[in-house]
Amino acid sequence: MITSFAPGRAELLGNHTDYNAGLVLSIAVDRGVRLTGTARADGKLLFRSRELGQAYEGSLDALAPSAEHPWANYLLGVFDEFRRRGLAIGGAELEIASNLPLGAGLSSSAALETSTAFWIQQAFGHALPPLELARIGQASEHRFVGVMCGLLDQISSIFGKAGHATFIDCRSFEVRNLPIPANAKFVIANSGVKHSLVASEYNQRRAACEAAAQAFGVPFLRDVDSRRLEAEGGALPPDVLKRARHIVGENERVAEAAGLLARGEAAAFGQLMFASHESSRVNFENSCPELDRLVEAARGTPGCLGARLSGGGFGGATINLVEAGAEAGLIAALEAAVPGTACLVTSAADGARIEA
Ligand code: ADP
Ligand code: MG
Repeated sequence: MITSFAPGRAELLGNHTDYNAGLVLSIAVDRGVRLTGTARADGKLLFRSRELGQAYEGSLDALAPSAEHPWANYLLGVFDEFRRRGLAIGGAELEIASNLPLGAGLSSSAALETSTAFWIQQAFGHALPPLELARIGQASEHRFVGVMCGLLDQISSIFGKAGHATFIDCRSFEVRNLPIPANAKFVIANSGVKHSLVASEYNQRRAACEAAAQAFGVPFLRDVDSRRLEAEGGALPPDVLKRARHIVGENERVAEAAGLLARGEAAAFGQLMFASHESSRVNFENSCPELDRLVEAARGTPGCLGARLSGGGFGGATINLVEAGAEAGLIAALEAAVPGTACLVTSAADGARIEA
């Protein structure tokens, strides 16, 4: 019997920077997906999800996405990626047990992929570099699920460290862990709001970022700093300039925040979170009234040091940095500000591992 565990993640700072080859700070959360099971010599693949109350049956010989059990595709794609790399694997009987809410902005999908990758490599005796395991999870989601995600979620799930943030350079994929002040907790507030135009808005934002980079003659907005943007950006269409301001500003905030974390300056770090949200609201326009109300409520709550929308935006969740002991007051304020908001408290936790 082999058990693997992979945590979910939260984006702490650096919004929409990943596909601009930029900088992100994330944490692995203290919840995740646990896979328990045994290898099978007959090539059969049997998965059970406790949360969904469903079972999937298939075989390595006929590895293809399942229309009937879409959740199984997160695992199947990982098996397929090992095979595509010429790595010998067998069948498996696996039980999924998770305490991560699905679709709540904590990337249960990446946790499931990552847990599967760790399980397979342990069961069949492989030892891939951690970054390669992240790429396997990403490729699985691209090929078997059809979501063209970046690497942020998988890297965060793998490289997370208790009490630390994970700093990711999305160009070099250099990853570093930076200490988080000891009494800091995080509250994730899921507004439950989902706007219907998320996909088209997301694509428009990406296109605007690409247009801005092209106008500056650079491959990615990562290569433009705020001084150059303000000096030379006047010819850009006003919307494109605002989108670029967000990305360039986020990269600079992450770089500054990394220094603040190294010096233990939690209050100043929190101010950068508020600044990030303000830029989302005004420049990137990926906030919404509910998220703005959550951030305003956080700003007025004693012990809350920072708050911002986390993830894609247009609904979804905020992340709040709060001093230990102030969590309950903050949650009450958030739930009052936007009824229906679901809050959970987490601290930065360790990344994926084999448990037994
Ligand atoms: P997020 O990654 O933000 O949680 P996604 O929509 O990307 O949201 O991924 C959620 C999907 O991942 C679920 O719809 C399901 O298919 C799969 N999944 C996550 N957790 C589980 C689980 N415990 N059991 C089965 N499938 C799961
Ligand atoms: Mg996901």
